[in-house]
Amino acid sequence: MKSLVLVNVTEPLVAEERNIPVAGPGEEVIKVIACGVCHSDIHVADGHFGGPLPIVLGHEVVGEHPELGRVLVYAPWGCRKPDCRQCAAGLEMICANSHEAGVVDDGGYQEYMRVPSRDYLFPIGDLDPVNTAPLACGGLTAFRATKRVLPHLAHKGATAVVIGAGGLGQFAVQFLKKLADVELTVLDMADDKLEAALKLGADHAVKKLPEGVRYDAIIDFVGANATLAVAGAHVQRQGIIAVVGLAGGRLEFGVGIIPSEAVLTSSIWGGLDELRELLDFVRAEGVEHLVETMPLADAQEALDRLRRGEIRGRVVLTV
Ligand code: NAD
Ligand code: ZN
Repeated sequence: MKSLVLVNVTEPLVAEERNIPVAGPGEEVIKVIACGVCHSDIHVADGHFGGPLPIVLGHEVVGEHPELGRVLVYAPWGCRKPDCRQCAAGLEMICANSHEAGVVDDGGYQEYMRVPSRDYLFPIGDLDPVNTAPLACGGLTAFRATKRVLPHLAHKGATAVVIGAGGLGQFAVQFLKKLADVELTVLDMADDKLEAALKLGADHAVKKLPEGVRYDAIIDFVGANATLAVAGAHVQRQGIIAVVGLAGGRLEFGVGIIPSEAVLTSSIWGGLDELRELLDFVRAEGVEHLVETMPLADAQEALDRLRRGEIRGRVVLTV
């Protein structure tokens, strides 16, 4: 089978011919149909996570399973040891010994993929495989982040900001508008992303937040020093900043430094139950996908284009 392999960080992926994986006890092997290209793949390829090499990237996977049919793969695999509090709660993405597909274990930039348990396979029925693949990370991460800020948006006249309306932010725009009665502003630096945000339901799309205005919830899908500084300057008293983006920025914290009782939190991927809930939500409510496809063989070009900001929403590799 064909695998696109990250052999060395910061170097182009290498096309290799590998043996089709064989399922060990309790494991499953799926034939990959579609794999989304997440900005986190760039962080892995740049060596920001320090994971093992070589590695096959890709954690937004829809594949074909011989008995279950088309499945979406839950990819942040935990240790599943009985004494792991996070795994016991289905929050495997926060497990201290997680081994995510495409980060620690081989992921979906290949024709077949090994999955450690059938519990991680979610049949998608007649949902479109290309549109559904990005739900595994982009959708799920935005869903969890949205749900975590909702308690701060329960009052009349609530306002929120999404910083960074790329693959993840575009889901968050839709989830926030559907799950809360909120006036939503999107902040991005790219015109095409601002245009997309308005199309997906944002009330305002700006390159700079208006001076002196404060918001009840800010989700930062960039996470750089500059965007965190904006979030810190614009969060309301008792508001919340949820940081999702992995740009590695920092924000000063302390009483009198941030507005009174504002909450700062990171938000990490999503749990098994949340993925189930997200699929139900998508079936019931529908969700818009700004998706384009590229063949697996062009995975490196897809990463390069994403890095240059040339992808309007999500690019999905078709296998
Ligand atoms: P993307 O490249 O599709 O989108 C990023 C968006 O941010 C783009 O629209 C870009 O124009 C905008 N942007 C970049 N710098 C900006 C700035 N300084 N000010 C305003 N806008 C800016 O990326 P994505 O796939 O949506 O991922 C977003 C981030 O979330 C990445 O860092 C990714 O690694 C991270 N991520 C985190 C988790 C998690 O569990 N916390 C999960 C998945 C992805
Ligand atoms: Zn991702």
